[in-house]
Amino acid sequence: MNTDVVIVGAGPGGCVLSYLLARSGVKTVLLERHDRLDREFRGYFFQPLVLKFFEQMGLLNDVLKMEHEKVDAFHFIDHGKTLFSVRFDDLPKPFNYGLIMSQPLLLQFLIDQALQYPNFTYLNGAIAKELIQEGSTIKGIKIKRRKDEVTIKSGLVVGADGRYSTVRKLSKIQIEKEQHKFDFIWFDMPASKDRKYPLQIRIENKGMLIYIPKGSQVVQVGWVIRKGTYPEIKSKGIEHFQKQLIAVDPGLEEELPKHLLDFKQCSVLDIQTATAKQWVRDGLMLIGDAAHIASPFSGQGNSLAIQDAVVAHDVIMKALEQKSFSLPLLKRYEEIRRPAVLQIQRIQKRQADLIGISNPLLLQLRRAVIPLIGKTALFTKMRDQLALGAQQITVKTAYFKD
Ligand SMILES: Cc1cc2nc3c(=O)[nH]c(=O)nc-3n(C[C@H](O)[C@H](O)[C@H](O)COP(=O)(O)OP(=O)(O)OC[C@H]3O[C@@H](n4cnc5c(N)ncnc54)[C@H](O)[C@@H]3O)c2cc1C
Repeated sequence: MNTDVVIVGAGPGGCVLSYLLARSGVKTVLLERHDRLDREFRGYFFQPLVLKFFEQMGLLNDVLKMEHEKVDAFHFIDHGKTLFSVRFDDLPKPFNYGLIMSQPLLLQFLIDQALQYPNFTYLNGAIAKELIQEGSTIKGIKIKRRKDEVTIKSGLVVGADGRYSTVRKLSKIQIEKEQHKFDFIWFDMPASKDRKYPLQIRIENKGMLIYIPKGSQVVQVGWVIRKGTYPEIKSKGIEHFQKQLIAVDPGLEEELPKHLLDFKQCSVLDIQTATAKQWVRDGLMLIGDAAHIASPFSGQGNSLAIQDAVVAHDVIMKALEQKSFSLPLLKRYEEIRRPAVLQIQRIQKRQADLIGISNPLLLQLRRAVIPLIGKTALFTKMRDQLALGAQQITVKTAYFKD
């Protein structure tokens, strides 16, 4: 196959970039290793900025026809009292809410939209295996699709293949990791009709619980543990684990033992932030988690990946005008996005440090001081950056052919 751009990975970054390029008339191939999009874990929460982008693309009305929940605020509850809330409903209308919706359905919708353009091809069950390189320039990719090995020659390869990016590894780009003190245990639980689970973190001496409502009467439950202690937790048995969660939220007493029966229902997320040392090379670009991993506190990953895609679209279109995907032309993408991503990672680090306080004196100080800080202009600025991005970005619709 021959194409202008091949994108590896149909996550939010890869799907949005595919749609924007397809609509701009660029010959684009999107590869996804799974046959079905629900085979990968996918976060369901989207920041208000993502709504704004969909509006600019003219897709928001259709997106909102899919099953979704609107989120007014993200609450941090400390020993039963609200420590602070990230209020989306204080943002300027109409993008004054976050969105919770099935990510596989949203990704499929974006792919279907892109497939309306004859210059776009989607290959599922297609695993990126090897980069084609001439000197230091990337010229395409070799993939395995079912039993076939396929060579795709391409002016640009975009690695949108997530935190364990194959493209990043194949191109020998190093990442700088910053370990956190925590891991998360996640599981889904049916939410009873009588009880609401607003988006929140509940902090108690006995532990930290996170609720992410997933719509369709399902809530994603997160439990924060000290890094590396999952085997110890498992060895104490599921009932002991249930009791720990119930001690933090007694409201779980009836439902949890009915639904959480085995650790097989749980997955563990190694919390880390990381940044690739380079995001572009000649003929290559990394976007989303392949370039940078944000901590899951405050749900930034989807938004950051989509912001990357929006900026990458503009940079790729300009590079195409110059008929070159050389490093100096692609570098603008990294120059625009790296400082903004760093800023979000910095805010998240402060949040994690605050949440992780265990010293009793500091805990008292936190309870006294944070509710006051929550009312300051500095806090509002941080909220705006988390909800609407750390920089002004708009979809460049002038490139669209229709
Ligand atoms: C437990 C958990 C909960 C989270 N919850 C949220 C949330 O609610 N909101 C939020 O904003 N963020 C959340 N995140 C973070 C968010 O999921 C990521 O930041 C986001 O998905 C990154 O998007 P992406 O497009 O860069 O990559 P991904 O979404 O990771 O997509 C990468 C795609 O590449 C494919 N792929 C990988 N390797 C290959 C290969 N070799 N060949 C072909 N295809 C390949 C994968 O199958 C995948 O489909 C969460 C993360 C975790 C782990």
